[in-house]
Order: sequence, then C-alpha cells, then structure tokens
Amino acid sequence: MAELEFEKQLRRMERDGIITRKQFLQLMAVAGAFVALGTEKAYAAKSNARARVVIVGGGAAGISMASRLRRAVAEPDITIIDPSDKHFYQPGFTLIGGGVYGKDDVWKRQEDCMPSGVKWIKDVVTLVHPTLNRVDTARSGSFDYDFMVLAPGVKYDWSRIEGITYQTIGEGNAHTIYDWRGAQLTWPAMQEFARKGGRGVFCDTYTKHKCGGAPKKISLLTWDNARKEGTTDRIDMHYYTGSKQLYDVPHFTPRLEEIYRERNIPVDMRCKLRAIDTHDKKAYFDQTVTLADGTESVKKIVAEYDFMHFLVPQCAPDFVRESGLSWTEGSLAADGWAMADKETLVHKTYPNIICLGDCAGIPTSKTSAAIRKQLPVATANLVSLMEGGAPDVKYNGYAACPIVTEYGKVLMCEFDYDKKPQITFPLSLIDMSRERWVAWLLKVYGLKPIYFELMLRGLY
Ligand SMILES: Cc1cc2nc3c(=O)[nH]c(=O)nc-3n(C[C@H](O)[C@H](O)[C@H](O)COP(=O)(O)OP(=O)(O)OC[C@H]3O[C@@H](n4cnc5c(N)ncnc54)[C@H](O)[C@@H]3O)c2cc1C
Repeated sequence: MAELEFEKQLRRMERDGIITRKQFLQLMAVAGAFVALGTEKAYAAKSNARARVVIVGGGAAGISMASRLRRAVAEPDITIIDPSDKHFYQPGFTLIGGGVYGKDDVWKRQEDCMPSGVKWIKDVVTLVHPTLNRVDTARSGSFDYDFMVLAPGVKYDWSRIEGITYQTIGEGNAHTIYDWRGAQLTWPAMQEFARKGGRGVFCDTYTKHKCGGAPKKISLLTWDNARKEGTTDRIDMHYYTGSKQLYDVPHFTPRLEEIYRERNIPVDMRCKLRAIDTHDKKAYFDQTVTLADGTESVKKIVAEYDFMHFLVPQCAPDFVRESGLSWTEGSLAADGWAMADKETLVHKTYPNIICLGDCAGIPTSKTSAAIRKQLPVATANLVSLMEGGAPDVKYNGYAACPIVTEYGKVLMCEFDYDKKPQITFPLSLIDMSRERWVAWLLKVYGLKPIYFELMLRGLY
C-alpha cells in the first residue's frame, strides 16, 4: 500500500487546517502510551496455576488468547489446533475489495503468528467430548485438556443460497468480500461498474454475521467510485438488509441513513437472499412485510443487477453443535452459536470452557474489535478458574465497526451491549457521530499493525 498516499492525505489535511502533523503524531504517541501502560499493568504478576489448555482455532481470538495466557501464567501448557497456513487480517478484505490494499497486504504465515512456546497442531477439530475433557482431530488423534478455549470462528453456509457456491464466487458478476479470493475479484468488477454504470444490488444476510458494517462499506465505496468517475447519474443502486433497520446503534444510525438518502440508494428491510441466477443476473429475495391487520406475509422480490455484492448466511462450525456446545433455545440456537455467558464468556454448561470470538453465542457484533475487549476478560477468568477461583471479570459487549463511507472518511461506530456509544480515547474528544478522516487513517494505516504487532502478540 502506498505510503505516498498517506503522506498526500496528511498534507491535504494540514493544508485544510484539520490537523497538523505534530498533532497527528501526538495523538498516536498518546494512544501508544496508553497501550503500553495497560499492558504493563495486565502482566505485572504471573499466576503459578498449572493446567493443560487447548485452544480450538488460531484466528484473531485463538492466537491472541494464547499470547495473553502465555504472559499471564508462569508455566503455560498451551496447544492450539488450527489447520490454516495463512493468517488473514479479515477487516482488510474490505479494503482489497475497494482497491486500497493489495491482495498480499492482509496476511502472514500462520507459523509466524504462533506465539513461541505454544504447541501448534495443524489439524481440524472434528468433535469435542466436554464430559471427558477431550477433543478429537481429523488426523492427529485426540487431545486431553483441563481447560479449553473455543474459538473456531464461523462457518459460511453456502447451502442456504441457491445458484452460487464457494467455487463460483464472481460468476455472473456476483461478488463477496467475505473471502480473500472474493475480495480480489470484487475490485475490478466494482471499477467496471463505476465506469459503465448500471444496476447495483447489495445485501447483507439474515443470520448473525461478521462485521455488520462490511456489506455497507462495499456499497458506499462502489458509489464513491462512481462519483469519482462522474457516473452517479448512470448507476441505480439498491441495498437489501435482513434486519429491521439499516443499522441498530442509535448514535450512528441517523447519519448512516442520511448518507444512503443523499446518494439515492434505497434500503429495503427484512430481506432474505434466497437465490442468485448468475446466468440472467437476477437476485431473489424473500421480504417479510407486516400487513395492515398486523399479520406478516412474505413478498417475493426479483432484483435484476449488473453488479452484485452479497453475503453468505453464517453459523457456528458443525462440530460445535455436534459436540453439544451450542445454545439449545433462544435466538442463538438456530445457527449453533456456542452457549456462552455474555459477561464472563464461560460456557453455560461446562465451566472449564471459555468461548471467544465469532463463534461465541453472545449478543455482540462479531468483530475483531470486540475480541480485543473480550481477551482481557477471558484471560482473567481462565486464570482465575485455573487457580480454583471464580470467573468474576465481565465483558460489557464492546464492539467497533469502522464503516468506510467514502475514500478518506470512516464512520467509526463503537458501542456496547446496550448500543450505547463507547468511543475510545482520543477519538472521544471529537464528535464521532459523523464520518471522520482521522478514523479513515486509523482504519487504513493504524488497525492492521495494531492487529498483527500488538493484539496477536497479547500486547493490546
Ligand atoms: C469482510 C470482513 C470485514 C471485516 N471487517 C471488520 C472490521 O472492520 N473490524 C473488525 O473489528 N472486524 C472485522 N471483521 C471481523 C473479524 O475479522 C472477525 O470478527 C475475527 O476475525 C473473528 O476472529 P475469530 O478468531 O473468532 O475467527 P477467525 O479469525 O475467523 O478464526 C477462526 C480460526 O478457527 C479455525 N478453525 C475453524 N474451524 C476449525 C476446526 N474445526 N478446528 C480447528 N480450527 C478451526 C480457522 O482455520 C481459523 O483460523 C471483518 C470480517 C470480514 C470477513
């Protein structure tokens, strides 16, 4: 990614009197000092507790947890089970799809992300026996544990959309950035659409999904490319959401809705993508509508498109449900999310299992930002359990979603379980209910190094 572009933007901001270089560096230094202080405090005293800890999944949650635990315990015995060669910084997929990052800006070799002193079993977990404290893998046999951290992320359930599969992503100009290859295919298609104009169909999905903001970001970046090309009068964009609202965090929703209105992008609510006909370029949605008498009915929508961006329904990986670790009732049961206590992150039935990250059935937004705030809670509670104590540290549901609204602007949404804004210092000094350049800087230049260099290393 071009350093030059960063320099150019910083110069533009200096010229416009928005921030000086000195102020920007001061802002970064203050943020760095806070990180360092917090880290030092967190690891001041190591626990002498001994236990075998197996971590299932070496993504954002699993690797960061291993790093933290390694620092928190004097004699750690940690095994991570994960089959991947590459470790992806998934928030960067949006920026690949929008042409800001190149394809190789978002990954490192998994072996380079593994914390030292941690055993890595490069395999897939097929079943957990929570009453026996044992996990089975596909090829490497079984592993006994005293405590387990369940962090295998989500499964994309392709069977729930007719007409397109993982292998055919991009066919018929139907794209998804929720995959590394898909993100790479999105950028040229988005550029072509912005140049030529046409009908653009964008949607999210009706299940809980990672980063609720990402499908919106792609629609807004597409529009911004058309603006740059001078073709906004030749595009006809439409956004279909599975939710009852475009966004459900009141502090940020009004501005986001306003942006869609300003750009003439109508938003249809409660729409489920059922099928894509990639040959005739048609998307089929079921929309739930409430009739005058209060009853609900399903309206069929057929949306013709020239360029489409979609999301696949998401659920917990199969072994979670098959191992009896999922919710069995309530809204989180259908998709098999792990039955976690939303405050302590401890499994509701098995107190020696901590549920972390996207797989956890808790009512937060599935983001790595949320994981960053879950990690100190999960670590403290796990160590306490290892010492024979109670898990009494609580997670408040913090999540963040930097919604890229255009090149150079981001609406940085930070909130908790109650959907109240939880703006991180020093951004809290600014009115963050609107899109900001400083949040763009953070998104494009700040968050990736924070992820790889601090979060995965257990330092943030
Ligand atoms: C397009 C996109 C944009 C996003 N944008 C943002 C953003 O702007 N901000 C933000 O904070 N977050 C964002 N996210 C979300 C963020 O990337 C995820 O919340 C985060 O990666 C989840 O971490 P995790 O460890 O729970 O899962 P993952 O990081 O997905 O890791 C799961 C790991 O488990 C492993 N695994 C799976 N099944 C098994 C098994 N059976 N056995 C062993 N291992 C297994 C996988 O190989 C993987 O390594 C975005 C995600 C996407 C896709």
